[in-house]
Amino acid sequence: MSRAFNFCAGPAALPTEVLEQAREEMLDWRGTGMSVMEMSHRSDEFVAIAEQAERDFRELAGVSDDYAVLFMQGGASSQFAAIPLNLLGDKTSADYVDTGIWSKKAIAEAKRFGQVNVVSSSAASGYTTIAPESEWQCDPQAAYLHYTPNETIGGLEFDFIPESRVPLVADLSSTILSRPLDVSRFGLIYAGAQKNIGPSGLVVVMVRKDLLGKASPHTPTMLDYKVAADNGSMYNTPSTYSWYLAGLVFQWLKRQGGVAAIGEVNARKAKKLYGFIDDSDFYANPIEPRFRSWMNVPFTLADDALNKVFLQGAEARGLLNLAGHRSVGGMRASIYNAMPEAGVDALIAYMTEFEKEHA
Ligand code: PMP
Repeated sequence: MSRAFNFCAGPAALPTEVLEQAREEMLDWRGTGMSVMEMSHRSDEFVAIAEQAERDFRELAGVSDDYAVLFMQGGASSQFAAIPLNLLGDKTSADYVDTGIWSKKAIAEAKRFGQVNVVSSSAASGYTTIAPESEWQCDPQAAYLHYTPNETIGGLEFDFIPESRVPLVADLSSTILSRPLDVSRFGLIYAGAQKNIGPSGLVVVMVRKDLLGKASPHTPTMLDYKVAADNGSMYNTPSTYSWYLAGLVFQWLKRQGGVAAIGEVNARKAKKLYGFIDDSDFYANPIEPRFRSWMNVPFTLADDALNKVFLQGAEARGLLNLAGHRSVGGMRASIYNAMPEAGVDALIAYMTEFEKEHA
């Protein structure tokens, strides 16, 4: 068996140990004679799997009992609608920060349900920096303030948590569980699973319980947080296998020492890669250093005409999915929790070699 170093932004690499365990348990989960995929979601076995996953997630992410943890479906994109539907309440508008493609998608969807006030935009800088909060045009009457702590495509990441007066809502899809975070600063956090949690389609939502029960009457039942919370995220058939796999990832992360320990590894990986890019005249990353993403590292080559050759050479060495997002081009290395430091070392070794050959 040979496992490549997969730098995909999502669905992203999963820990090999997790996949091995899933393989081991595939046909017969712990003597039940069934795969988890074949179990009733109401069975004692699956309920135990689901509850264990939630407990482990709460422990890892530091989520208190003041928050409901929901395992929902439809990916992070479904939350772009669920958030205004559930949180606007009797307010007419919400504040949004525009730092790139994902925040823009959240903004566009929210506009279908209410008024959106873009309090700050990184557009003028070409999405390479983030304005200080003192310059944001926040509305104290807004229902909530939404931002995208890490822009997966642009590689632009907040190095601060906004001091919002209204409930703070964050799309943590590409940084969840990558380092310690003070959840108590947030009203709601959501994260599509396919980067640091598990298979795509699943989305984990943490919502402060006092924010439940305010959904617009037009909210589809499946998007209503209170319905999800009251039914243990099993109003309908949940994505059982994804939930199980997420649970295996949480157990793996605990074995790595949790988010503090993985955070140190992640910091080291990012520092190495950006350090290498900055030391080279051949590769470049345009983001203001303090706002560089730890998880998604976009970079360009000195000559775009070399992109194809670069990608071919990378693939031949088992360094996969380094092409940048189709909307921006260039390269992007996503280095989530499951990317070992050795993967970053291998990438740097290849980049060094490629530069020597082509500079
Ligand atoms: N937000 C962010 C920050 C993302 O990176 C992504 C997916 N790459 C999404 C939202 C959308 O997630 P999904 O495809 O699960 O809807």
